[in-house]
Amino acid sequence: MVSIVIPIYNEEEIFHLLHSAVTDAMLPTGEDYEIVYVNDGSRDRSLGLLLECQRRDPHVVVVDLSRNFGHMGAINAGLRTAKGDAVALMDGDLQDPPSVIPEMIKEWRKGAQVVTAVRRSRQESRKLLAVIFPLFHKFLDMMSDFKIPLNSGVFGLVDRQAMDTINSLQEGNRYFPGLRAWVGYKNAIVYYDRQDRVGGEGKLSFMSRIKYAFDAIYSFSAKPLRVSVFSGLSCVAISAVMLVALIASNWTAWTPSVYFPVITALFFVAGLQMICLGAVAEYVGRIYDEVRRRPLSIINKVYRADTAYQTLDQPESVDVMRAA
Ligand code: UDP
Ligand code: MG
Repeated sequence: MVSIVIPIYNEEEIFHLLHSAVTDAMLPTGEDYEIVYVNDGSRDRSLGLLLECQRRDPHVVVVDLSRNFGHMGAINAGLRTAKGDAVALMDGDLQDPPSVIPEMIKEWRKGAQVVTAVRRSRQESRKLLAVIFPLFHKFLDMMSDFKIPLNSGVFGLVDRQAMDTINSLQEGNRYFPGLRAWVGYKNAIVYYDRQDRVGGEGKLSFMSRIKYAFDAIYSFSAKPLRVSVFSGLSCVAISAVMLVALIASNWTAWTPSVYFPVITALFFVAGLQMICLGAVAEYVGRIYDEVRRRPLSIINKVYRADTAYQTLDQPESVDVMRAA
């Protein structure tokens, strides 16, 4: 079975369009499917519409959250409820066209475990966002400690094994596209043209977008921690050059200004402080790593004489080491 998880927050204007578009995409595939709608504390008639739809269509599962938890919270609840052997995830405003899901299922049937939908183009009436998104992805790509496919969002599909691994990660600040790339497994990419929202207003506030961007950068990069140490080292290096110049001035025609020694000392002290701050930041970073409890590695399969498959919870890795 394939699950399709869709977060819903105040989408009454477009829900009918959404449901028929997803159904139209799924029926021809011949796959058994469920659509998991997560009502993220909607204040309009969305929940009523969802429940009515659920009564009429046995494919529909409705998860009703106790209040609005935001995009990631809603997605997380849906992914944990989904029972499919493959789980597709998309936004509920038809910016992610459901017609791409059959293509992702094809990739999965061919053996891919993580299918990422990458935006070939972007229809976006909000011009500022259309500029900021690709820039942000380039920046994240530069910062992150491993590759996250450029121009991808939550839209994609993961198989049961990858889904269970992602669900087992304990960290609270979750950037789903990052986690999906981080778990590894056999990957495939499908390209699509991102549409404009079919109706209603965008539901993510400016602040929640900023938080999402910070989640992405801070959870997948240690580089911000090192900014302070590197700038501190540069300041100390500059002060060293200035000191040499100051001493050399005794034998040259150059007479430094009276402020010159003071500025040299300032650079030195500021640099020292930044280096100390950087050392503290390294410890904070390590504490973050520890509390996040991301596993050090993820086992895909363990090949043994008697069984073909073991999951990562079983302590079989020792045997693998020995066998290897
Ligand atoms: N959404 C949600 N909770 C929220 C905000 C949004 O579940 O607090 C849902 C929304 O209904 C939509 C998806 O998340 O299905 C993406 O939201 P939106 O289209 O507003 O984001 P944008 O396209 O503007 O980034
Ligand atoms: Mg949208």
